[in-house]
Amino acid sequence: MHSPDLGRDRLLGVGMTSQRTRDRLVARLAASGIDDLEVLEVIGREPRHLFLDEALAHRAYEDTALPIGNGQTLSQPWIVARMTELVVAEAPQRVLEIGTGSGYQTLILSRLVPLLWSVERIHALHRRAAQRLRWLHADNVRLRLADGGHGWPEAAPYDAILLTACASELPEALLAQLADGGTLIAPLEAPDGRQWLTRVRRRGARFEYQRLEGVRFVPLLEGVIR
Ligand code: SAH
Repeated sequence: MHSPDLGRDRLLGVGMTSQRTRDRLVARLAASGIDDLEVLEVIGREPRHLFLDEALAHRAYEDTALPIGNGQTLSQPWIVARMTELVVAEAPQRVLEIGTGSGYQTLILSRLVPLLWSVERIHALHRRAAQRLRWLHADNVRLRLADGGHGWPEAAPYDAILLTACASELPEALLAQLADGGTLIAPLEAPDGRQWLTRVRRRGARFEYQRLEGVRFVPLLEGVIR
């Protein structure tokens, strides 16, 4: 028989992408230290499988990072949950994300903050993310193809900034676009090559760095790939 609403079927998923599979992932995240109930609820509701190639969609609700093409990866659900939790804890109004990638982290965040700007440097990823986010009615998101190292100055300042790619030093432009009292969450590489999820708080002209857990991200790179 023909389904009258293929879009809805794809959205809800079947088998390995079903609600039961998503509930298992949420239980696992809760058991591994994610305790913001709103974050867990959004992750349990939103379709991560739509952010992956069809060949990988059946693995969407495993707690693992997966390739999204162009040498990039969709972060594992635990890290998406953790970074989202850190951002929303500050109840920010205006949020900037650097590294849209598949758009999955963007979607999760968009359900929990009023306004979100997200920048990606690879055209193919930017375009696909834009399609998915439009289809899922993430209407509070603005996307831009650009080198995120320059931020998005026209919409600054931001109450929170999130980087989903790793740098050894934060670009000046991003620090400058963080509102006073704002929070920036980013993976940062130490001189020994290890990466740490880091929280930076702005207090006037001062920036306070706090090292959180060890992580593994793709690098923050310069320039745009069309
Ligand atoms: N959050 C993404 C995963 C991102 S992987 C998701 O949920 O799918 C990191 C992303 O950062 C990649 O897509 C990479 O192209 C992008 N990136 C790296 N350097 C960048 C820069 N300078 N400006 C914008 N995007 C950048």
